[in-house]
Amino acid sequence: MTVEQKRILATSIPGPISIQMQERRTKVISAGVGTLLPVFIDTAHGAILRDVDGNQFIDLGTGIGVVTIGHTNQRVVEAVQNQVAKLTHTLFTVAPYEPYVRVAELITAHTPGSFAKKAAFFNSGAEAVENAVKIARKATGRTEIAVFDHAYHGRTNLTMSMNFKMHPYGTGFGPLAGSVHHAPMSYPYRDEPGMTGEEAAARAITYLEKRVGATQLAAVFIEPIQGEGGFIVPAPGFLKTLDSWCKANGIVMVADEVQSGIARTGKWFASDWEEGFEPDLVTVAKGIAGGLPLSGVVGRAEIMDAAHAGGLGGTFGGSPTAVAAGVAVLEQLEEGGWMERSQEIGELLTTRLSAMQANNPIIGDVRGRGAMIAIELVEAGTKKPNSQAVDALVRHCHQNGVLILNAGTYNNVIRFLPPLAISDELLNEALDVLEEGLAKL
Ligand SMILES: *Cc1c(COP(=O)(O)O)cnc(C)c1O
Repeated sequence: MTVEQKRILATSIPGPISIQMQERRTKVISAGVGTLLPVFIDTAHGAILRDVDGNQFIDLGTGIGVVTIGHTNQRVVEAVQNQVAKLTHTLFTVAPYEPYVRVAELITAHTPGSFAKKAAFFNSGAEAVENAVKIARKATGRTEIAVFDHAYHGRTNLTMSMNFKMHPYGTGFGPLAGSVHHAPMSYPYRDEPGMTGEEAAARAITYLEKRVGATQLAAVFIEPIQGEGGFIVPAPGFLKTLDSWCKANGIVMVADEVQSGIARTGKWFASDWEEGFEPDLVTVAKGIAGGLPLSGVVGRAEIMDAAHAGGLGGTFGGSPTAVAAGVAVLEQLEEGGWMERSQEIGELLTTRLSAMQANNPIIGDVRGRGAMIAIELVEAGTKKPNSQAVDALVRHCHQNGVLILNAGTYNNVIRFLPPLAISDELLNEALDVLEEGLAKL
């Protein structure tokens, strides 16, 4: 199935068929499951989503950074079709199958660090984070976990306790898990001007030493570029300084690369942008399997082996179709060209968004790396978050056939997560629509 790589506005948005489906949806789907753009998607390919009314959207969201390689990538489709006709389930811990091992060989070769590594696979990012907590606790014999302000780690009980924002993730869903400590993040746009990464790390370390105690900590979890928090890129030196402190104190350093990993930032992992940063464990999910549900914990062999047999797993984790898709994605990334494309996309986005910033004082910051770029909107002449402008821009883009996503602790960030399969032409067209929306504000 291919879809012409073209934006098409066939009806108003949402169209009549989507409106009907939305009525059916409201009757049977929990109100707790929200919708950003109420159009029902029928098919997708490359960078285009086609809805049931025949509208075609340029997708700058990729289902939150999942179909990094592009929608219905041919080799992913073939790998899944072949696998699903051969074997759909045994449960790897009952009787194994080869693609689970192959995807582990591929991913362990590319996560940061040159030490011996092992992996374990699950279904979702939150499940990977939960398992990294279990592994770190077992490996260290300690209980406490540190996370950072503006972090997002998932929607299960433990991971909602690790998120910064209570609303919407935790409100009314408590009691939350204990033994989770929130430390100050490096947020260059909002920190004191000139604060270095080392200084920001010292602030976090002092807090953790006083409030928790280094000897109590099993693990420090950090997104090397924060996703839901608004693509916050910590100041250079922040990650490495934290990592050195963890290593000196026997604390497992975990990079949550669920959103930032797998070529998203123009390297295999966002951690690779900070020289000398070698997290012990990395959590992966979103972009790893071209849209199939697959997540993993990958890292130092001796830490991964601390878990006892039977302690890790789950019925569907690393299912045959999901790992077959993972192999198809990682083999294509290994063949080359994708990191360069991701960096080119980052340059195009940054150049155009910075030009818009020069004419528009409500764009306070343009940041990110590779195909993971965001703008933070403020009230002109201040740093006061401007979430109304984000809402208006998101609406304008959606009405005009461009899918963009919001983000940020203050709901004042627009994030761009285009597929790497997008052409410059489509990306520029999407940015033209955004620019039109900015001019209308
Ligand atoms: C999305 C995300 C998660 C949670 O992943 P799910 O698959 O939605 O459970 C965890 N960490 C980060 C950094 C994420 O972006």
